[in-house]
Amino acid sequence: MIPARASSLVLALLLVSVPGCTAPAPTVDRFPALGTLVEVTLHDVDAATATAALRALRTALSDMDENWSAWGDGALAQFNAGSPADPALAELMADAETMATASGRLFEPRIGALVELWGFHDGERRPGPPPDADAIQAWLDGALPVRVDLGAYAKGAALTRAAEVLREHGISNALVNAGGDIVALGDAGNRAWHVGIRHPRTAGVLAGITLADGEAVLTSGDYERTFEWADARYHHILDPRTGRPAPATASITVIARDAAHADAAATALFVAGEDWPEVAAAMGVDTVLRVAADGRIELSAAMAARVDLLQGATAARIVNVTAATR
Ligand code: ADP
Ligand code: MG
Repeated sequence: MIPARASSLVLALLLVSVPGCTAPAPTVDRFPALGTLVEVTLHDVDAATATAALRALRTALSDMDENWSAWGDGALAQFNAGSPADPALAELMADAETMATASGRLFEPRIGALVELWGFHDGERRPGPPPDADAIQAWLDGALPVRVDLGAYAKGAALTRAAEVLREHGISNALVNAGGDIVALGDAGNRAWHVGIRHPRTAGVLAGITLADGEAVLTSGDYERTFEWADARYHHILDPRTGRPAPATASITVIARDAAHADAAATALFVAGEDWPEVAAAMGVDTVLRVAADGRIELSAAMAARVDLLQGATAARIVNVTAATR
């Protein structure tokens, strides 16, 4: 055992040699995946472990990109073309279907043909008009072939899988940030993970929040995929009841332990507009931040208890989600 005086000397030396007494530098990796730039931050990990984990993570995410996209030639695209679903895909679609039912089909995975009509399946959508009313009506009437699109769910499912891959490699402190959609593992060395939620209008940070181990933050915003035509702006979150972009919301952020459910819920609550508390209760999520299209900020009580609004922002309404029923 080290004598007391000697151990305090060791501590003093450590304090001198580590400026500001911060934790050792994290390992950070950035690469394109999930339709965005993914940033992975690992704490308390040796170089060999980090290299192996990051290689496995890149492979897993690129597999999911291929197989969970409704377009291209991966497993989901093949299912849409008539092939049977393998067990992993079937499980994913079954869980998405459960969330769709809970949402009153505001989150609608069978929306692919409508998304394609609008051109939002194509990252390189060329300028052009929105689809005409007859084409939208044909989709609403169920006259178009069904195409399953997991675009509103798969990023969450991928974040869940990403956390599993890191844990399988012995990593317990990490943050995976896919363009503002985030999952946290453990902590950031010597403090909790603290992340920002984007302001849907200024592109600055609207709010800050501390994440517990295993929590995910998923945001659906009207700024993500858009096009303009004849002085009108159109975005990619469609209301399955009208076949058109949902107008009432600028962004919805949901925090939950199940990232896929948070993703599906963010989309459904976005579409729900003012009715979001009832839909949140039905989908089993209780930590929600909404920015309405007119800029009003609404929080669930669970979100209000832990979020820090920045830039002088204040909540216009705080709602107890668990009390809301449909
Ligand atoms: P982001 O893609 O920005 O994370 P979302 O999670 O809300 O945002 O997913 C939007 C994507 O989901 C769209 O690009 C489209 O492919 C699909 N989608 C659009 N509207 C709906 C809806 N009401 N239900 C399910 N999927 C939808
Ligand atoms: Mg979503």
